[in-house]
Parts: sequence; C-alpha cells; structure tokens
Amino acid sequence: MKALVIGGGIGGLVAALELHAAGIDAHVFESVREVRPLGVGINLLPHCVRLLDGLGAMEPLLELGVATSEQVFFNRFGQHIWTDARGLAAGYKWPQISIHRGELQVALMDIARERLSPDRIHPGWHLQSFESAGDGVVARFVDRATGVEQPEVRGDVLIGADGIHSTVRASFYPDEGPAKWNGALIYRAVTETEPFLSGRSQFMAGGEQTLIAYPISKAHMDRGRSLTNWAARFFVDPSKGFEKEDWNRRGDIADFLPRYENWRFPWLDIPALIRAAPAVWEFPMVDRDPLPRWTHGRATLLGDAAHPMYPLGSNGASQAIIDASVLAASLTNADGVEAALRAYEDDRRPKTAQIVLHNRRGGPERIVRMCEERAPDGFDDIEKVMPRAELQAIFDGYKTVASFDLDSVNRPA
Ligand SMILES: Cc1cc2nc3c(=O)[nH]c(=O)nc-3n(C[C@H](O)[C@H](O)[C@H](O)COP(=O)(O)OP(=O)(O)OC[C@H]3O[C@@H](n4cnc5c(N)ncnc54)[C@H](O)[C@@H]3O)c2cc1C
Repeated sequence: MKALVIGGGIGGLVAALELHAAGIDAHVFESVREVRPLGVGINLLPHCVRLLDGLGAMEPLLELGVATSEQVFFNRFGQHIWTDARGLAAGYKWPQISIHRGELQVALMDIARERLSPDRIHPGWHLQSFESAGDGVVARFVDRATGVEQPEVRGDVLIGADGIHSTVRASFYPDEGPAKWNGALIYRAVTETEPFLSGRSQFMAGGEQTLIAYPISKAHMDRGRSLTNWAARFFVDPSKGFEKEDWNRRGDIADFLPRYENWRFPWLDIPALIRAAPAVWEFPMVDRDPLPRWTHGRATLLGDAAHPMYPLGSNGASQAIIDASVLAASLTNADGVEAALRAYEDDRRPKTAQIVLHNRRGGPERIVRMCEERAPDGFDDIEKVMPRAELQAIFDGYKTVASFDLDSVNRPA
C-alpha cells in the first residue's frame, strides 16, 4: 500500500513513521523546501511520548527537550493556586517533554529520512488538488518557490496532515471560511533566563490575562540556564477582527509589555523576561468547529487539519501523534482502505471534538480565571476560594477527556 502524507509537520512526520513501521510505503509531501526550526515551545504529553517511544523517537527528543515535572498555577499577584505533577513525577511511565517545536520537527524529519529513505520525503511539494479515483487517489503539487508544477502522484490513500490552513480540509469543506477567533491574542517567544521554581516547572500566572512559561532545552539546563518558552495571552475587542493566523508573524513587545509591568514574581521577573526576548511572534487564539466527517473516499484528515484547537491543556501536537498511531493501526488491521479510514475516524473524531469543545471552555487552565473571578484582589486561604477537591476534579476530568489519565497511559498494550 502506498500512502501520500500531505504535510511534514509533527502529525505528518509521525504518521509517516507509524505507517512505515506498519509496512506501508509512506511518502511525505511538504510545502516548504527546507524545514527550518520554526516556532517556539510545544508539549508532548505522556500518552503520545509512549507512542514516540514505541517508534524509537523518545530518547533523541529527551536529548533536546526537558522532562517537565510540574505545572504550577498562580494568580496575577503570584499567590499559589495549584500544582499538578506532570510526567514521571506524576507516576507516568513516560515523561512529558517540553521542547522547541522547530527542533522537534527537524528531529522527526531526520528520523523519517533515515527510516523511510530520503526519496520518500518531498520538500517543496505543495498539494494543490487531488481526487479519489477508483481504487486509488491522484494528487497534484506545485513548488511554490518557483511556481513549477511537480509530476502527478498516485497512491492508495491520502492523509491530509497539512495544518490549520489545510488544503485537503478546504477541498472537503470549501465554504468553511476562516478559523474562529475568541478575541485573545497570544505573544510567544523564547528568552534565556535563570532556572526557576523546580528547574523543570511550567507555570501559568494571571486570570483573564495570563502568562505561561517553561524551560524547553536540555542543553541550557545542563549548563545551569533555562531556555524559557513563554506566551502572554490577553483579550482584545473581537469586533476589530484579527490578521489571518500566521505562525511566523512578528509581534511588537510595545503592544503588550505595559500590561505585564507589575508582574514581578520572586521566581521570575516577567517584564525583564519579555524585554530580553530576541524576537516575539503574535498569533490569534483560533480553532475550527468539529467536523461531521473527516474521510471522503480514500482521503482523510489528521492533526490540526482535522481538529485545530486552542493551545490549552498541551494537546495540539499530542493529539496529532495519537491520530497517527490509530490511523496506522487501522490501515494495518481493517479490511480495505475505506474500512480502515472509517475505523480511524470513528475512534478519533469524537474524542478530538470533545477536546476542541473543552478547550473553548478554557481547558484546565481556566482555574486561574475562576480564581480571579472569585478573589479579584487575592486571597488568604486558597481552600476557601477554590477547594482542593474542585481543582483536582477539573484536572482529573481534563485528563480523562484528553485520554491521558494515569491508568490508561500506564496500562500494558
Ligand atoms: C511554522 C509553524 C510554527 C508553529 N509553532 C508552534 C508553536 O510555537 N507552538 C505550538 O504549540 N504550536 C505551533 N505550531 C502548530 C503545531 O505544530 C501544531 O498545532 C501541532 O503540532 C499539530 O501538528 P500538525 O502536523 O497537525 O500541523 P503543523 O505542525 O501545522 O504542520 C502542517 C504542515 O503541513 C505543511 N503544509 C501546509 N499546507 C500544505 C500543502 N498544501 N501541501 C503540503 N504541505 C502543506 C506545513 O508547511 C506544515 O509543515 C506551529 C506550526 C507551524 C507550521
């Protein structure tokens, strides 16, 4: 069987590795000619790290990123609300890895080139159109740098892993329109700092306006420093609209630094963190409605193309990786491509739709907002504002929805 994987992002590359491991001839077609380490930090939760471990890709990633030990939540005055143990520290058999998204993509690309052979990876092939034709699928590509059309390619199945601006999704739903914006802007960057809290901690501070930060580089950690990924998020007037989401749009710190001027915590000085960033990127908080169908003929969707979600709960990349694993298993086990795609979609579409909707309600990070609503001027005793049992239930509930509760992740295969 020959699979055409559209998009060499996190989801597409892991899909290609999973398909290859299942004995399927996988080809990856990536729009850009050269994959450069773009983006900032991203998280891999233990359930997807387990899958990466099965592919032999966990160890190289642990050499790059940080095995996160906890997520700590504070109000905007720096008062402690809740600590959620993460990864190995929480009893999972697999770590949570916080890593530079670009380094993750380049590492996966290198592994895919080595395993699949370089001639299975096609950089500079941007999908233009495709159609399911009888017992196969035919795809047409262009090199966007030159405008030159690439030769037509035939395969048995086509997997649209082409991200939030998916061409494959747009061909299924031409009238869908732009992504949906909730009125929040996110400014993201990486800044080298002193290590903070446990040295492996993620923290979120704030209420309606937040700042999240975490270390993403083992190399920095090894020399006593922290390469700190951070994201500042706040709401603006949504009626003003937003510029189309672009992962590579530069932001200006003057547009948001004044909002964080008083955020000087004992463990990290936020204005100093923002000022020292070499570059800042701006992205609107967008997602898309869950779809009624992912599969049409011999083509289906995966990752952000299928279920773009707000960056809450650390789930974007993790869910794409789980999609990849379920898809490869379905193509191996089911009787025929159409039945396999049906089985894949029946499993993954409802689960990921729940996460998209859950994230619209604020994900587990909503606890900082709840706390601010209940105690806008701070608190003396968090138990009186947000009882421990309530906080625990929010986190347990989210882990179940996103399929990373301890028991299911650690259960033997
Ligand atoms: C440049 C970039 C930077 C990002 N930075 C961050 C970040 O800092 N933090 C974060 O949490 N998330 C970031 N993301 C999103 C994150 O990678 C995804 O949410 C998640 O990993 C799911 O991955 P995915 O493979 O589904 O989508 P993506 O990682 O978006 O990958 C999609 C891939 O498809 C390619 N592509 C698109 N259209 C076509 C086409 N027609 N033909 C062929 N190829 C196509 C794109 O070039 C891209 O490589 C970024 C995405 C990109 C593309």
